[in-house]
Amino acid sequence: MASGILHIDLAAIAANWRALDAASEPATQTGAVVKANAYGLGAGRVARALAEAGARRFFVAMAEEGAAVRKALGPGPQICVFSGHMQGDAPLISDHDLTPMLNSVDQLTRHLEALPDQPFGIQLDTGMNRLGMERAEWAAVAEIALSRRPVLLMSHLACADEPDHPMNAHQLAEFRALTDGTGVPRSLSATGGILLGPDYHFDLTRPGVGLYGGLPFEQAQPVVRLALPVVQARALEPGESAGYGCTWVAKRPSVIATVVGGYADGLHRALSNRIHLWAGDVPCPIAGRVSMDLITVDVTDLPEVPTSLDILGPQQFVDDLGAGADTIGYEVLTALGARYTRRYEGAAG
Ligand SMILES: *Cc1c(COP(=O)(O)O)cnc(C)c1O
Repeated sequence: MASGILHIDLAAIAANWRALDAASEPATQTGAVVKANAYGLGAGRVARALAEAGARRFFVAMAEEGAAVRKALGPGPQICVFSGHMQGDAPLISDHDLTPMLNSVDQLTRHLEALPDQPFGIQLDTGMNRLGMERAEWAAVAEIALSRRPVLLMSHLACADEPDHPMNAHQLAEFRALTDGTGVPRSLSATGGILLGPDYHFDLTRPGVGLYGGLPFEQAQPVVRLALPVVQARALEPGESAGYGCTWVAKRPSVIATVVGGYADGLHRALSNRIHLWAGDVPCPIAGRVSMDLITVDVTDLPEVPTSLDILGPQQFVDDLGAGADTIGYEVLTALGARYTRRYEGAAG
């Protein structure tokens, strides 16, 4: 096997969904965000596992993603599209029964003209200034929009991963001001908001990263293990170097293993000389720069050279890799490369 093997534990994804579902009252539904190919893990397989676990409402970023999720799930579950109803989306929305979250008066008009019978929701901006109708815009069209019976009113928190940030309470108050008394089901929280407590839960939550084992859901079960096969190993004398730029130099007689995987596979070059790969529970430091397709690793302390080394797994989560590359677990997940062989494990149940 020449490529890295990305093991994806569907049972752990289902368990994380159940744990996040249990964090809110039974009256609060728990959706599932499967945008960006389910954060790089495969939207079809992941959405089916989540549907088996009990998820009934799925969220994607754009209509094309919604069409793919619909093909995987078949009729029944609701598939909501954060980018709403964009120019040219009508055939996808109607053919695949998607539910756009309308972001502006333009989108509302477009939707009601093109697909008057197709369910929709409305996204409101409560301070993030990214997507959704602003207060004045909403005030102007709320009456018309509500008369067409939207299925959801939603907004998104900018700072939910920082529980003490004053923006959270500010956005909560604004969301209430915009939606109290409408009688329409409401949704404010992604993974971080669920952890802020019941005030933030409303009728439906929308976890994404927590399902996939990422922070801020600290109790998440790990979902991915990434094993990189060793191509070859060699002995180095003290003073010899490894990799581009000679940034790692042997201080003792060393054994360097070269593994398949590099920055073209989403293993950021910033990880150079900064993190470990793992042989079971033995850490082996990266020795030198991460290159496009290969990484050199110091395996001197292992009794023998293994056939592969793990860069993600129970010893090192996506957020650890994120910290090593000055980024976040979300980016590590969504950067996981196309060249890995993806192996799905643990049927949901
Ligand atoms: C991505 C996204 C989510 C999921 O967020 P996580 O932090 O991954 O749980 C929920 N809602 C919106 C609007 C999003 O863009």
